[in-house]
Amino acid sequence: MSAAYDLVVIGGGIAGLTAAGRAAQAGLRVAVLERGTDEAYPCNSRYSGGILHIAFHNIREPASALLEVIDAATRGKAEPKLAKAFADNAARVVDWLRDEGVEFMSVGNIAYQQWVLAPRRPLTPGLDWKGRGADVAMRLLEKNLNKRGGEVFRGGNCWTRGSGRIFYFSPGHELYPIYHNPQIQRVIYNAVNWARPQGRPAEVPLHVPVENAPEKIHARGPIMHDASGKLVSGTR
Ligand SMILES: Cc1cc2nc3c(=O)[nH]c(=O)nc-3n(C[C@H](O)[C@H](O)[C@H](O)COP(=O)(O)OP(=O)(O)OC[C@H]3O[C@@H](n4cnc5c(N)ncnc54)[C@H](O)[C@@H]3O)c2cc1C
Repeated sequence: MSAAYDLVVIGGGIAGLTAAGRAAQAGLRVAVLERGTDEAYPCNSRYSGGILHIAFHNIREPASALLEVIDAATRGKAEPKLAKAFADNAARVVDWLRDEGVEFMSVGNIAYQQWVLAPRRPLTPGLDWKGRGADVAMRLLEKNLNKRGGEVFRGGNCWTRGSGRIFYFSPGHELYPIYHNPQIQRVIYNAVNWARPQGRPAEVPLHVPVENAPEKIHARGPIMHDASGKLVSGTR
């Protein structure tokens, strides 16, 4: 892990990986922070049909035509500069992805399906995305990013439960050097700081002695507290 980054991308879907890859190619030091924890973390991109189109038009239509398509599809509500940037650069995205080694295929004469990530995922609901379309492209984009010194960091997640705060992160086992990397340690430090008690009691039920439990339960095994809540150890 590098000491500093020029760009930190939040979210490693195909959009994040494309932005990160292009920035790394332009010489920036890039990190992608992805909340998914798996090697092939699920995301919309992986589930998608992998068809690169603009409002069901061929993404390689001339920019002026695409601008009209965007205008019609958004009923003129698209921000003009953004719409123009989109239309002007749509074909470049395909070119850039191809230069990265991403493979496309076309599906018959369907105009908007001329640039489909290969191998194609059928356009039906299902979890058959591994080894197809965007999954293949994303693995490749991550590999290329790594070659340019960029990295995808997986598995950081913050959420709250009641008044408690939970942080989940998978830096690897403490026997591995990455765990002791100063920046990983900083993430853990920041997380502990963020998750520390916020000055009001947690909204969790108080300890209920077995005798007072709303449903009859039979105690078994070790106990940690007596009926007054005092910490004890022993067995019933
Ligand atoms: C079934 C299906 C089929 C589709 N088919 C097509 C198609 O054929 N063609 C087409 O153009 N579009 C299609 N779409 C839409 C398309 O998939 C999405 O528009 C596109 O994938 C969005 O890409 P993305 O990178 O922005 O988002 P995503 O792929 O959703 O990636 C976002 C990533 O950010 C991560 N993330 C989110 N929040 C955080 C956080 N706080 N911190 C860290 N990480 C975070 C997520 O875990 C995820 O990995 C389809 C969508 C679905 C669901």
